[in-house]
Amino acid sequence: MSAPQELTHPLVKDGWFAEISDTMWPGQAMSLRVKKILHVEKSLYQDVLVFESTDYGNVLVLDGAIQVTERDEFAYQEMIAHLALNSHPNPKRVLVIGGGDGGVLREVVKHESVEEAVLCDIDEAVIRLSKQYLPSLSQSYSHPKVKVHIGDGFKFLDEYKNSFDVIITDSSDPEGPAESLFQKPYFQLLHDALTEKGVISTQAENIWLHLKIITDLKKDCKSIFPVAEYAYCTIPTYPSGQIGFMICSKDAEANVKVPLRTIDEDTERKLYKYYSKEIHEASFVLPNFARDALK
Ligand code: SAM
Repeated sequence: MSAPQELTHPLVKDGWFAEISDTMWPGQAMSLRVKKILHVEKSLYQDVLVFESTDYGNVLVLDGAIQVTERDEFAYQEMIAHLALNSHPNPKRVLVIGGGDGGVLREVVKHESVEEAVLCDIDEAVIRLSKQYLPSLSQSYSHPKVKVHIGDGFKFLDEYKNSFDVIITDSSDPEGPAESLFQKPYFQLLHDALTEKGVISTQAENIWLHLKIITDLKKDCKSIFPVAEYAYCTIPTYPSGQIGFMICSKDAEANVKVPLRTIDEDTERKLYKYYSKEIHEASFVLPNFARDALK
């Protein structure tokens, strides 16, 4: 019997994956050396590539954009989850839109107060492949508090009013199926699906590359939420090595820049590899060019 055919993918050449996008990050590309291509699939919604890298563990790529690597994903998952959850007085029902790799869910269920964590992702292929190739993220799917729904987050939210304390939008970029998740009507849906002191966090791109997207996003959020603030984290494999979040609250008195709830340092170190009460506050401190643009 002949050896199984080596898988190939157009973005993997001479043993390297190159993250090229003339629209989202023109003139630059993050490259990762590939040990083995594990899976290639055209799902109903996106091109899916999973490969084992030489130095960043397994890597999930959707439509040519790096979604998660096993080595650095914790930075993003912890920040998009805990910036929002620690800005709510007592989060019980939490919704994740997108997040099919399971990483954000893993962070949500670390909060004792959470009674139910619902995830709505449009693409079953991402959940299926995360269970197969990203066990440290998809472990969350077996948690008793977790419920999974396959569908468009935009449509899902329309069915829920005054239902969730925190909603986290862990979406891919505003091209392809996630495009509607960056537009104003979506943020109105989020607002209406939240309970009284509800808080949201969304994937909000990068100040070096997407200042226009971020300023438009903040303008839209400020027209719907009394509080809307941008924070960011460092993460080697996202374009320009960092990514940001829009954190909004329905509570006009809320100060999302300071955690409402904190835990002792030992427990913090056991639970988180990136997030801390100090970095919660520091993450909202922006360089002048970004602060002035987002004023
Ligand atoms: N952390 C990554 C990032 O910042 O780019 C995103 C990770 S997660 C894999 C992105 C998820 O968003 C994917 O699983 C994709 O299927 C999902 N998604 C895209 N558009 C969606 C939509 N309209 N409704 C629900 N999920 C969507």
